[in-house]
Amino acid sequence: MKLKRMLASIYIFTLFSCKTATNTNLIAESTFSKSNDISMLNKLVNDSVFVNLSDYSKDFILDMKYATDDNFLKSKVYDCGSCYLRSKTIKSLVEANKEFIKKGYKIKLFDCYRPLDVQKRMWEIVPNATYVANPKRGSIHNRGGAVDITLVDKNGKELDMGTKFDHFGPESSHFFSNLSSEVIKNRKMLKKIMLKYGFESFDSEWWHYNLTDAKKDKLSNFNWECD
Ligand SMILES: [Zn+2]
Repeated sequence: MKLKRMLASIYIFTLFSCKTATNTNLIAESTFSKSNDISMLNKLVNDSVFVNLSDYSKDFILDMKYATDDNFLKSKVYDCGSCYLRSKTIKSLVEANKEFIKKGYKIKLFDCYRPLDVQKRMWEIVPNATYVANPKRGSIHNRGGAVDITLVDKNGKELDMGTKFDHFGPESSHFFSNLSSEVIKNRKMLKKIMLKYGFESFDSEWWHYNLTDAKKDKLSNFNWECD
């Protein structure tokens, strides 16, 4: 019965997903109410539904930078730091994280789904497509298929990736080689496992990964609800 109810809710969600942000929020929130069960995601017929990662896995560290003023915008643009993504993105991310956990690490997230209006604000500040997607075309973040991440060790300490998240300079590139062997090893480990689980890297940002199968998904502008 639980599954049937969820499927019915997804259908309603899909019907209303082009409506106002408020409608979408309410439906998204009520559709996926804290099942804490990743296996439920595998039963969903619609891979494109937005879900809250925390409802399906507690094995990630969330450090959502845009819910603070510790970001290049220097302002808090999210009311709270939730990680919403399309369910197919979450499935792949959970599988990748399982492999990192086996190696003694886990994924720390800096950003997930990002409303299109936030993308517009970013573009106003950094109108440079090497670092920020033009909102006219949109980012995969706006489609629920991109994550900004790093790895932490068993003590929760971030691995050295050579630069901070959102460092807009050549040092952030996968092609920048003037880095310590430790940094290169860490970046390679992150990239190798993310690619294995259906993601692709972004040349100029070591922290950004797109689900390969996300480019045709629609841009979104809903804002999630906060507790
Ligand atoms: Zn990103």
